[in-house]
Amino acid sequence: MKLQKNRLILIVSLLLVTGFLMTSLVSFFVSRASLRSQISEKELPLTGDNIYSEIQRDLLSPIFISSLMSTDTFLRDWVIRGEKDASKITRYLSEIKKKYKTYTSFFVSEITGNYYYADGILKKISPDEERDKWYFRVRDMKPDYEINIDPDMANRDTMTIFINYRVFDYEGEYIGATGVGLAVGAVKRLIETYQQKYNRRIYFTDKEGNIKLYGSDFPVNIKNIAEIPGMQPDVMKKLSSLQEISFKYVNDGKTILLHSRYIPEFGWYLFVEQTEEAAIRQILYTLFINLSVSAVITIIILLFTNMTISAYQDKLEGMASTDPLTGAYNRRAFDIILKQTLKDAIRNKTDISLILFDIDKFKETNDRFGHNAGDAVLGNIIKITGSCLRASDVICRWGGEEFLILLKQCNINEAFNIAEKIRMTVGKTPAFHGGREIYVTISLGVVQSQYMESEENIFSRVDMALYEAKKQGRNRSIPAPSFRE
Ligand code: GH3
Ligand code: MG
Ligand code: MG
Repeated sequence: MKLQKNRLILIVSLLLVTGFLMTSLVSFFVSRASLRSQISEKELPLTGDNIYSEIQRDLLSPIFISSLMSTDTFLRDWVIRGEKDASKITRYLSEIKKKYKTYTSFFVSEITGNYYYADGILKKISPDEERDKWYFRVRDMKPDYEINIDPDMANRDTMTIFINYRVFDYEGEYIGATGVGLAVGAVKRLIETYQQKYNRRIYFTDKEGNIKLYGSDFPVNIKNIAEIPGMQPDVMKKLSSLQEISFKYVNDGKTILLHSRYIPEFGWYLFVEQTEEAAIRQILYTLFINLSVSAVITIIILLFTNMTISAYQDKLEGMASTDPLTGAYNRRAFDIILKQTLKDAIRNKTDISLILFDIDKFKETNDRFGHNAGDAVLGNIIKITGSCLRASDVICRWGGEEFLILLKQCNINEAFNIAEKIRMTVGKTPAFHGGREIYVTISLGVVQSQYMESEENIFSRVDMALYEAKKQGRNRSIPAPSFRE
């Protein structure tokens, strides 16, 4: 019975725990997957697009200014007339720089090789100089202009975005390159804003993966994207064929979601990345709440189940061993207790006594007051008997109105005294029924079990004692004579 109960509780708890765990975990993984795709397919590309359009917006006016410069008649006339009086071109470049608030402005002459800027002649350019390579590229290229990012020698090598425009004379002969430069500060500020606002890391690389532009939290020792721990090794190869990719990588135990796109104006790739941890903190918290609530519900259900089963069990056990009218033990339960008690008494050499009693003229009571009144009398007698006994004594409803009492560690004299006490209390304590008092008396037989005496023998001796009590006129206790006499 107890084993079955434990098994039931085990099955119920297993079902509840697996059920709750499954639903909580499934919902966690589903939310995480949708959050991941939301971030890497929508939010990160959107940030990339925003940055790209911001860059395009920033470049629009410098490109326009450079275009005007390349067709400016003063500039072209001054070159055609032999580049006399450098202060003229210097003033022109300085006015452009002031008026349009550009970082720098320049003209490089094809004929003299002079590099003019707002403060005069910077240098003479030479094809052997690594830093001058850009000029020879611009000279030979097909489009009217290019955008190039380089350190600006005229401004302590600050990273600068140059617009390099080709200049022609009126016959269409190439005579030099002009344009303006703007500091990358604006782009950098954009990177910082996104970093602070959305906790996203933003950086640019060239086609080889060399880190070109980055925000303040980017590790300075990393020079190439391949040096970022956990980064997919073939990311640049993939980008060269795809233009735009999203993927994730793991750095220092943290999952990082990344999006990259090509910025054609710079010939660079823009990378926007974000650690997943901060984004999934909320759903992790939800998972924790779900599991806690599930645990509490499981415990409550288990406690409730246990209590219910135990209550039913007690009730069933009670129903199997007691008499429903009086609550006394039935014969079957009593027999088990008696057998055990007799064995203990033999082993411990203690005395055991029995009292058998029967209500006198109970038929008449039933006839006079009714059967229900008789039942009330039975209940009353059990109550009285119980109050005269010790907790270890056992009362059994032996027959209709016959009761047997087992007294442990009790000899015949003590048992006789108890019998008399019960008899006298019953005699003066009426039962109440239908507003009437009902008095009855009882006759009792008392017996002490003798060493190794059989149950049948004990019963027959106590039965005879009761019979004797009835014969002698009822309402009395009679001790059974000792067995060997
Ligand atoms: P005596 O024992 O003194 O010889 O007379 P008596 O009238 O008690 O005789 P007997 O033992 O023959 O009668 C027992 C009566 O007890 C008969 C039966 O109707 C009644 N009785 C037995 N069980 C119950 C019960 O559960 N409720 C009620 N109300 N009466 C019961
Ligand atoms: Mg009887
Ligand atoms: Mg009777």
